[in-house]
Amino acid sequence: MTTDTEALQEAPPEARPIEIPRVLSVKELGDLMSVSPVEVIKELMKNGVMASINQVIDFDTAAIVAHDMGFEPLEQQLAETAEVSVDRETGKPQIEEDPTKLVSRPPVVTIMGHVDHGKTSLLDAIREAKVAAGESGGITQHIGAYQVDYNGQLITFLDTPGHEAFTQMRARGAQVTDVAVVVVAANDGVMPQTKEAIDHAKAAGVPIVIALNKIDLDDANIDKIKSELSENGVVVEDYGGETPCVPVSARTKVGLDDLLANILVVSEVLDLKANPDRPAIAIVVEAELSKTKGPLATLLVKTGTLRAGDYIVVGETSGRVKAMHDEAGKKLKQAGPSEPAEILGLASVPKAGETAVVVADDKIAKQTVIDRIRQREAADLNAQPHVTLDTLFGEISAGKLKELNIILKTDVQGSIEPIRQSLEKLTNEQVKVKIIHTGSGSVTESDVMLAIASKGIIIAFNTGTEGGAERIGQQEQVDIRRYSVIYNIIEDVDKALKGMLEPTFKEVVTAHAEVRQVFRVARKNSIAGAFVRDGTITRTDSARILRNGAVIADGKIGTLKRFQEDVRDVATNFECGIQIDGFDSFEENDVIEFFRIERDT
Ligand code: GDP
Repeated sequence: MTTDTEALQEAPPEARPIEIPRVLSVKELGDLMSVSPVEVIKELMKNGVMASINQVIDFDTAAIVAHDMGFEPLEQQLAETAEVSVDRETGKPQIEEDPTKLVSRPPVVTIMGHVDHGKTSLLDAIREAKVAAGESGGITQHIGAYQVDYNGQLITFLDTPGHEAFTQMRARGAQVTDVAVVVVAANDGVMPQTKEAIDHAKAAGVPIVIALNKIDLDDANIDKIKSELSENGVVVEDYGGETPCVPVSARTKVGLDDLLANILVVSEVLDLKANPDRPAIAIVVEAELSKTKGPLATLLVKTGTLRAGDYIVVGETSGRVKAMHDEAGKKLKQAGPSEPAEILGLASVPKAGETAVVVADDKIAKQTVIDRIRQREAADLNAQPHVTLDTLFGEISAGKLKELNIILKTDVQGSIEPIRQSLEKLTNEQVKVKIIHTGSGSVTESDVMLAIASKGIIIAFNTGTEGGAERIGQQEQVDIRRYSVIYNIIEDVDKALKGMLEPTFKEVVTAHAEVRQVFRVARKNSIAGAFVRDGTITRTDSARILRNGAVIADGKIGTLKRFQEDVRDVATNFECGIQIDGFDSFEENDVIEFFRIERDT
């Protein structure tokens, strides 16, 4: 028996346990502890977090505050929404499968390749020849994916061709493609987008099957293309490599069976499996608002079985599956792994690449949506910038990073190899320097997407950045480094790898303008009549002039005018007169990229 005095001595300082949700607002945390939100804000400030009363904080932050205020924080278990747990760092659903219930599932295929090489024609030819539903005669409609039956085996094709859609999905954390078919026109060859498709598929670790299309044409030259593929890192089977290369013609339908057979061979190695006997987890491949039917979304089931009548959370919206259709418009009662279905009944339109999960009822669906929104807000709040050269060493030291993925864009093709080789030589024991994509020309949206999806950085050597790419890059905090001297690239990356790179200054691109007219005002002075394509030009910005994608000059803005008047700034879609110090040879169609240097924090 313990006496009262003993008990007093042994008792720990009183810490009242409180259950804290994974995410909550500052006010809610105050309510939980019965203290004023101001107290919570003060406590947060002591811990270096500036927050307002409605700001959402995550459990870890709330726990520190609660602990400091004399509570014992316990993480609230959300049993009702635990059917799929979402990885806190990546936001991806973690699918735990019962290994005894796994069965084979069809492969999911994306068709990629250069424009006009026949991606759409090939998708159409395969669909016409082999649609699984078999009941042709009905009008097929594009829902984003379809399935074909080849000798009793199913293959799912994503109906939006191209590596852009593929990498955009990956950037949102979803990878649905198992096999990439890269189409190369046999009368043409490996073109810039062929190379992009190859690099994007490789960066995702997705095996490639080459479809050598248009072999019906007289000028088809199969050997030339096979050797070009080798030069670009894809060694086809009859050159001793592992990549199948199938001659086809989308026009005459030659080789289609062979292509499907090869896709199946490649997928067999992947040993694709899922458990049809569980509530479905699916990925949105396409979504739109129909004027007559409301939000429509095509879901591709990853695992489980989706049924009409299921309650479902899709991205940050929810609903009940009122009806499901395949691409022939046929009503489906259910859809199993790798099967696409267009569903009706969501409250709003989700985004491609978002995850859908089936839950038990409407209440849980709504609660899960709230939970997801809050989790995202909390994640946004604590958002870690993507890999940057400045933070690289920290990540390497913490063992978080084993590879530095680099996308290298240069003004001319000839600069690529020397830079690539010097960079790859910087590989050391802790980290491998990997150039995942190279190309000449400006940094594009597709490059930025690849950097996001592969957690990489972009190096732009003597080349600009397209407006859209700059915008997404800034939003997503992708490190786009611009250089004009090769030595500086190598030195920076080397220093970054060794943790010696001083956080310096970064360049922020503020606007792009297109030169539409050139006015010569004096012998050594010309003014560009320009149209602002994106962003806002500010008088104090610096500028570089791009001709055909390559930087030809740079300097400070000398004058910035609208209608003869000096102005401080000019916004998107306005015209203006610009003169750049030390540059007097504008030509029509030059692009002026404006930037300023900011301290990198
Ligand atoms: P995409 O831009 O890659 O989707 O290419 P398309 O499918 O739109 O095809 C581009 C052009 O090539 C179209 O005019 C097609 O008719 C043509 N085409 C596609 N496949 C073949 C083929 O196998 N043989 C021939 N001769 N022409 C083809």
